[in-house]
Amino acid sequence: MLKRRIFEEEHEIFRASVRKWAEQNMAPHIEAWNEAGQVSKEVWLSAGENGFLAMYADEKYGGLGLDDFRYDMILNEELTNFDSGFFLPLHNRIVAPYLHKSGTEEQKDRFMPDVVSGKRILAIGMTEPGTGSDLAAIRTRADNKGDHWVLNGSKTYISNGQIAGLYLIAARTDPADPRAIGLFWVEEERAGFTKGRNLKKMGLQSQDTSELFFEDVVIPAENLLGNGRDGFKLMMKNLAEERMIGASGYLARAERAFTVTMEFITERRAFGQPIGTFQNSRFKMAEMRTKLDAAWAFVDHCATEHMEGALSSEHAAEVKLFVSEIEGEIVDACVQLHGGAGYMQEYEISRHYVDARISRIYAGTSEIMKEIIGRGLGLDDRKRN
Ligand SMILES: Cc1cc2nc3c(=O)[nH]c(=O)nc-3n(C[C@H](O)[C@H](O)[C@H](O)COP(=O)(O)OP(=O)(O)OC[C@H]3O[C@@H](n4cnc5c(N)ncnc54)[C@H](O)[C@@H]3O)c2cc1C
Repeated sequence: MLKRRIFEEEHEIFRASVRKWAEQNMAPHIEAWNEAGQVSKEVWLSAGENGFLAMYADEKYGGLGLDDFRYDMILNEELTNFDSGFFLPLHNRIVAPYLHKSGTEEQKDRFMPDVVSGKRILAIGMTEPGTGSDLAAIRTRADNKGDHWVLNGSKTYISNGQIAGLYLIAARTDPADPRAIGLFWVEEERAGFTKGRNLKKMGLQSQDTSELFFEDVVIPAENLLGNGRDGFKLMMKNLAEERMIGASGYLARAERAFTVTMEFITERRAFGQPIGTFQNSRFKMAEMRTKLDAAWAFVDHCATEHMEGALSSEHAAEVKLFVSEIEGEIVDACVQLHGGAGYMQEYEISRHYVDARISRIYAGTSEIMKEIIGRGLGLDDRKRN
């Protein structure tokens, strides 16, 4: 594996401590979580006690005041080696940054301590039964009543949907203007808010993915994030970080798939020799190693750009597109090298194969990533004339 140059000694020490923590706090429970369809609240609280949640939050909220994206990359990469269904990166680098960067002081005082301790797990609701890629078509609406808003509508496919205690919900705020989107913090206990089914999925069995319903939910004006019309802008700003943290996790899963396949082909024999000694196996592994190394270099480059505040939405889309497509190729080739064993749930590779399929779909599909990159090149079909 290529030596990664973005990490310092303190990051490697942190990586070792995360791995040890995961061995003790995740490994023994993975089977039970997969059967239950969600991880336990205890693992979240333990992550909080260890300082793994929103570590960039100010010390007055219990955080470490340490805003270094590399720590979240390490958490994501290491936890993926155990169970991809524990969506700590969603909490840390997809939802909490909205509060950290754009929340009011009052919102931070109210919510951040529980976000840091793990008492309130976070989720974000953009997608609806009628729309995902086309966010301008969302129908959930929030009506302004002066000192409060009234929320009506529904969301679907929401990660951490069952276990979360605080949701950031996107809703239309002006019937005449589809671009006017407001973002609202909705606590799980609000009257009229109900969690629907924990949806049955192809993979990520321990990750709860849910429907959410809002019926005349009264949201105090203080729970509005932003000005009530700038939700798109806020989401676009945060989606680059979401795609970046996603890419590091997808690649970690592909790397893990490579590792377990190396072990398998070294032990498994056919025609009197280890599978790994066939030229085809050697070539496949060589191709995969090359793709992984190239992808790590790209991920680390984009992470550096992100830390410098210079990651463009096009680069974020490129890294998400490139890594998720490579991940798909790698897990597929790894199953093939396992033969029939690769199709059996008792072999870890089968889990990576199904878990990886979502990477090309959520956080924006591969097609939407190509749209973003293509438009960045000036090739925009909205400018036909
Ligand atoms: C396991 C899981 C977890 C998720 N977690 C969350 C979450 O926490 N919060 C949340 O808000 N959402 C979440 N989602 C939703 C996810 O982001 C959407 O599913 C995704 O953005 C795609 O939207 P869609 O499903 O509506 O597909 P559609 O938008 O209906 O797309 C269907 C197909 O059409 C293609 N397509 C659409 N528009 C274009 C275009 N302009 N050009 C070319 N092709 C196009 C798509 O690429 C896709 O292939 C999750 C989804 C899953 C499955």
